[in-house]
Amino acid sequence: MAELKKLSEARDLTRIERIGAHSHIRGLGLDAALEARAVSEGMVGQCAARKAAGLILNLIKEGKIAGRAILLAGQPGTGKTAVAMGLAKSLGAETPFAAVSASEIFSLEMSKTEALTQAFRKAIGVRIKEEAEIIEGEVVEISIDRPAAGAGASAGQSSSKTGKLTLKTTDMETVYELGGKMIEALGREKVQSGDVISLDRASGKVTKLGRSITRSRDYDATGPSTKFVRCPEGELQKRKEVVHCVTLHEIDVINSRTQGFLALFTGDTGEIRSEVREQIDSKVSEWKEEGKAEIIPGVLFIDEVHMLDIECFSFLNRALENEMAPILVIATNRGITTIRGTNYRSPHGIPADFLDRLLIVTTQPYTEEEIGKIIEIRCEEEEVEMSKDAKLLLTKIGVETSLRYAIHLITSAALVSLKRKGKMVEMDDISRVYRLFLDVKRSTQYLMEYQNQYMF
Ligand code: ATP
Repeated sequence: MAELKKLSEARDLTRIERIGAHSHIRGLGLDAALEARAVSEGMVGQCAARKAAGLILNLIKEGKIAGRAILLAGQPGTGKTAVAMGLAKSLGAETPFAAVSASEIFSLEMSKTEALTQAFRKAIGVRIKEEAEIIEGEVVEISIDRPAAGAGASAGQSSSKTGKLTLKTTDMETVYELGGKMIEALGREKVQSGDVISLDRASGKVTKLGRSITRSRDYDATGPSTKFVRCPEGELQKRKEVVHCVTLHEIDVINSRTQGFLALFTGDTGEIRSEVREQIDSKVSEWKEEGKAEIIPGVLFIDEVHMLDIECFSFLNRALENEMAPILVIATNRGITTIRGTNYRSPHGIPADFLDRLLIVTTQPYTEEEIGKIIEIRCEEEEVEMSKDAKLLLTKIGVETSLRYAIHLITSAALVSLKRKGKMVEMDDISRVYRLFLDVKRSTQYLMEYQNQYMF
């Protein structure tokens, strides 16, 4: 458990880093009727695709989309990853989002099916609940005692349940009886079942008063001056549950004898034996039965899906049948092309039986205004001050080259401006980095002009 805790804290950092280019996206930006607002939650334009993603989101929430997948089809830089990210964000912060490019599946270190299995398990979350410590001065979760009418007379009719605290209040202080099993340390002392503790409501400070022998009756012994008052329902009810959210893949790695915790950060996880996975699956379902854990199917996003071969598609077909399967979102910018590993051509290079499973959503190229707005949002996200003219120039560059190239220039132009101790990024800074870094079009042109100077 301690390792899981460390992990759930540290993973947020690595996740933020990995998804940096889309960090401005906080949801799909839809209204209650699922219409896309022009600019909302970091999303700009691409309204039809966002609305479609919103409908899919509802299907996911209603549990009606098991075993299906979504294909985002559109030109490069038209926001396919952004839409997938918006979908994941709308599902909630705890929903895991794993993104891979299909070419990453073909690695030298592991088989394709192992790489795909790891990708799937990165997109399946486990929410583990743990009882937390009681810290001195902290208000703990309370189940409210309901003494029968009459001041404190029948404290014995406590409705406390095992493991919960029973609340009895006086004018001055609040007295608790710990019902059920031992709970945890309170300051330096151990607090156990049957202990009586008091809480100063103003400061929230808890003190151990002593031990009740027969639990409830004992309260009568606190003297006639103690007046039991019924506390309003819900008052003082505070959390006392710590939740760790990890993915199945992370549990796999930390339990794999050859790798361990640190492998998650180096990314060097290698293959994981199937016995390890089987053990983990049965442990997790045990936790689930005991109410200690919950499975959260997340979103697995596979970009450049036309790079997968026929065997990978058949694996995906099977993996989607699993009851824990995440929502699979795939993306491609290809039209009709050969299915890798065969001589057949098909739409997007995807086999017909797999295509049949897909809900297809298309993305469209952006207008100049939309590109300008996305650039503005990215500047805010990266905390870069940029003059109006510089933004206009960068928008023009985005239209002529690509949105992604223009977004890349923001960071480098900010560095140039910083170097000259400028207050904000100006047109000159943009021109400088535009000359320094070539976009694809200029790079290709350059290669064509000078190709005889390169090695063959
Ligand atoms: P490729 O086909 O090359 O993988 P893509 O279609 O997945 O490209 P993205 O990576 O989503 O494109 O978009 C490029 C950049 O523009 C990202 O930083 C993304 O967050 C941002 N972006 C794209 N579309 C939008 C949008 N509608 N609103 C806000 N930001 C967007």
